[in-house]
Order: sequence, then C-alpha cells, then structure tokens
Amino acid sequence: MNKQELIAYVDSLADEISQVCLDLWNNPEVSGAEQESANLLRKVLQKHGFSIIEIGEGLEHAFIAEYGSGAPVIAVLGEYDALPGLSQTVDTKPNPVVKNGPGHGCGHNLLGAGSLGAALAMKKYLEETGRQGTIRFYGCPEEEFLIGKVKMVKAGAFEGCDLALSWHPMNVNAAIEKAFLANNSIKFKFHGISAHAAQSPESGRSALDAVELMNVGANYLREHIIDDARLHYTITNAGGSPNIIPEEAESWYYIRAPHRKDVESITERLLKIAQGAALMTETTVEHTVLGGCYHLLPNNVLCDLTYQNMLETSPPEYSEEELDFARAIQESLDPAMVEGEISKFMALDGTKPYVHQGVLVQEQAKSVVVSGSSDSGDVSWIMPMNLFLTASWPLGVPAHSWQATAASGSSLGIKSVYYAARIMAGMMYDLVNEPSLVEAAQEEFRERTKKAKYVSPLPN
Ligand SMILES: [Zn+2]
Repeated sequence: MNKQELIAYVDSLADEISQVCLDLWNNPEVSGAEQESANLLRKVLQKHGFSIIEIGEGLEHAFIAEYGSGAPVIAVLGEYDALPGLSQTVDTKPNPVVKNGPGHGCGHNLLGAGSLGAALAMKKYLEETGRQGTIRFYGCPEEEFLIGKVKMVKAGAFEGCDLALSWHPMNVNAAIEKAFLANNSIKFKFHGISAHAAQSPESGRSALDAVELMNVGANYLREHIIDDARLHYTITNAGGSPNIIPEEAESWYYIRAPHRKDVESITERLLKIAQGAALMTETTVEHTVLGGCYHLLPNNVLCDLTYQNMLETSPPEYSEEELDFARAIQESLDPAMVEGEISKFMALDGTKPYVHQGVLVQEQAKSVVVSGSSDSGDVSWIMPMNLFLTASWPLGVPAHSWQATAASGSSLGIKSVYYAARIMAGMMYDLVNEPSLVEAAQEEFRERTKKAKYVSPLPN
C-alpha cells in the first residue's frame, strides 16, 4: 500500500465516516454528557480492530483506541461535544430541531469523525504493510468546558506518545501556527452579612456590593493589561429579594491571553482586586479555579508537514446546490463582516466567494486568528502537535452559531471531514515512513520547552 492507495482507502470509508458525522450531529451531547457519542466512536474503532483503553474516574467519556506496536506512537485527537442552545436543522434560517436544545455549533461531530477516519485508514496501512507504528485515537470529551484534555494530560493519558495530530472545522483550509488564547476560569464567592435593607442597613455587609466593586476594579484593570488579553465575567449569584442585603454573591471570570504566563500574571492581579473589593465592603472572598488551559505551542516541522499534505490531497469541490446553500447562509449574517472575510481569504480566481476553496499559503495562514481557547493547547505543551483548519462552514460563519450547526450537518461540513481525514492519514504515512520527521518535531519541541515547562492549570 503506497500513499496514494492509503488516501484512496480513506475515500472508500466515506459512507462510514459520513454516518458517524450524522449520528453525532443528530444526537448532540453537551460537555460532560457525551456518553452516547463516546460509545459510538468506541464501537466503530473496536469493530475495526482497535483495542479500547479507558482512562478512569472523572473521565468516563474519554478513551484511547489503540492499534499497532512500536514507534512512532501517534496520538490523533477527536472531540465530540456539542453546545447548549444551538440546536438547528440543516436550514438557512434559524430553525431548531429542539427549541433551546443542544447543537453542534462548533462542528465537533465533524472533528471526531475526521480524526476517526484517519485512524481507521492508518490502521489498514499498518496491517497491510506490517510496518512498525502505533495509532492512538484519543476520544476527548468536555472541550467546550476547556477541561477534558487538561484532565487527560493530568491523568497521564498521553504518556508514551511521540506526537499528536489535531484539526478543527472552520471557514478556511489552513495549517495554523498560532492559535488559542490561554485561559483561566475562576469563580469568586463573596460572603457578607444579611440584614433588612431598609430597617437596619448599617448592620448588613453586602456581598453583591463586593461583586460589583470587583467588576469595577476589573474594568479599570483592562487599561493596564496587554491589548490581546480578554477578561469576561457574569454574575452567577446576585442575591434574592432587594429588601435583604445579600449575604452571598458570586461572579465567574474568564481571563484569556495569547500566552499562559500573561494569564497567570493577570490572574494574580485580579485576585488582588477581589481582595480589595472584600476589604472595601467588609466581606470575605474565596475563589475556585474551575479550569484553565494553555495556548498552542507551535511546531514548525509539523506545521510544514501539514501544509504539504493539505496541498497533496486537494480540497473538496462543491456542487451548485451546495454553493447556493452556503450563499443563503451568508445572507443571514452581517454583509460587511461576510464581505471582509471574503476579501481576506478568497482567491481572486473566479471561484464563487461562498466557501473557501484552495489552501491558504502559509504566510496568509498567519493572519487567521483563532482567538477562542481550546484544551488542545495543553497537549501541544507535552508533545509536538500540529493544528489545521478546514473550510467546513461558509466564509463569515462564526463558530458557536446556528449557522455553524447547520453547516456541520450538511454535505459542506461532511466533505471537509473527508479532506481532514486524508490530510491526517497522509501525515501519518510520512511520519511512519520517515523517522527523521518525528525526531525533528521532537527536537523542536525540546528546544521550545527548554525554558518554559508545562504546569497543569488545574488545582490539585
Ligand atoms: Zn470547537
């Protein structure tokens, strides 16, 4: 089996891959509740001869499916969690399957199925050629909570892997070097003294005042942190009836920045603001770190290999009907924003400006901003990891939108999955056949982590 035959084998799995995409899409399960989704993937992998390794307590919806033996040990990351409130049919206007129900607005149904397809194909290759190498499909839950892989890393689930391959559905085909804001998720609970708000306000100490003053402090802090950092909060408990001074109040903060060290230093300052708010109001405060994750550590060796494989196996072509669907979805969005995306990423070669076709040249790929966070970042800090995006949604469609749910359940999304599976299978072929690539990726990783070691953002 040569590389072309391996890629052709991926194509022969199209029906099975597309069925997995649709089964996951039709039964969207949010972070922490991905039981059926994980079971579906376990079942398919088992049927193809993979052995399933469970990771353990607290990670019931995570698993490893392994095939082969010896080096290199390649981790393929697959996610499958959905988002609350993003239920949507394959339609060009808002039309939920279940009102306020969950939906695959981040395309993780595609993500899981694409990685699966690559793993199945590579298993066939190892089996037919008798080559040495181990494929490990990682079933990764709770990505939307930014915590599944952080927990898996902490549990040692990735020990023994040489490198990891990852991708994400998006609007463009591109190999990405920089992505994901590092993040901390922290709840602040203030404790005061309740009292009748009119009759004896002097005896009360308002926990809600403390929450509000902390938010004021945090908003002043914005002026003195790096431009690329992000702070956002909600008030998760603001007390009850206005005639009772709130004894308890709580806020929930996300602190994000392009580098983990910035997140840590901003977090230190935010903790001081919380203490200040408590001091001002004579309340007390406790904070709970719910989670945190790293930014993507680039690996040029793997980024270049990704790019080569993206060029080698051509991106999908679309029917008139598919392009019409894409155009109709774009009409539901802000025209200026869509126009901006089109002019940024669309080649001026006469192709219709609805879906990105072609592969962004690496220089252009640098302008792609993936400013959300992902727990995949943590994996990139413990071993070399790549990241690529595929055009799964029409240009301009934001992640976490009903439009993304619709496209992720359509043939547009599914075609991008075949492409992703071909890219990853091609990369695995290269890595298994050229051990020097693995060594070079690892050498770069060692160099990049010489001075900055990974420390789990999760408290003990
Ligand atoms: Zn996602």
